[in-house]
Amino acid sequence: MKENSIWECLKCGECCRSFVRTGPEISDKEKEEILNSLNNSKIVKFIHGTGLKLDWIKNQINEREYIPVIGNAPPKRCVFLSNNNLCMIHEIRPKICRNYPLEVISPNKIKVDLDCQRSEQIIEKLEKGNYPLCIKDEINTEKDIKVEAEHFFDRKISDRD
Ligand code: SF4
Ligand code: SF4
Repeated sequence: MKENSIWECLKCGECCRSFVRTGPEISDKEKEEILNSLNNSKIVKFIHGTGLKLDWIKNQINEREYIPVIGNAPPKRCVFLSNNNLCMIHEIRPKICRNYPLEVISPNKIKVDLDCQRSEQIIEKLEKGNYPLCIKDEINTEKDIKVEAEHFFDRKISDRD
């Protein structure tokens, strides 16, 4: 089960493929943590196994606000997704990945990505007032919270391409 989750994640890895058309967005702090993790021998070995150059990944992360993706057309995939759908930087994965398929729009508005196969189960839980720990510090549970369902992928194509 996904960490801090109120639903069962299928570990299908879809959120690390089609969802990350341009790569997950990262903050400055996340960028620093991820760059530091690239000194970890397990991650270095994984990157070498993919045939990618570690320096290319470092440069991409340094120059952009996103983790790079590979592949020429959707579905692309995040450079840190392993063949068995594991995140190689799971402990320090960015907030956008930790929260997925949720996105907190405001303290009283949460969006759920319908592309996640668990979205219906998640919406049901949220509507009953069950919120996962990963978003609890971003929401105001004292007030009614609006839950909206959306295809993030469609929006991200127009917003970020
Ligand atoms: S798409 Fe949904 S079910 Fe699949 S790995 Fe991501 S969060 Fe889990
Ligand atoms: S950082 Fe990890 S969780 Fe986020 S898209 Fe990449 S592989 Fe998936």
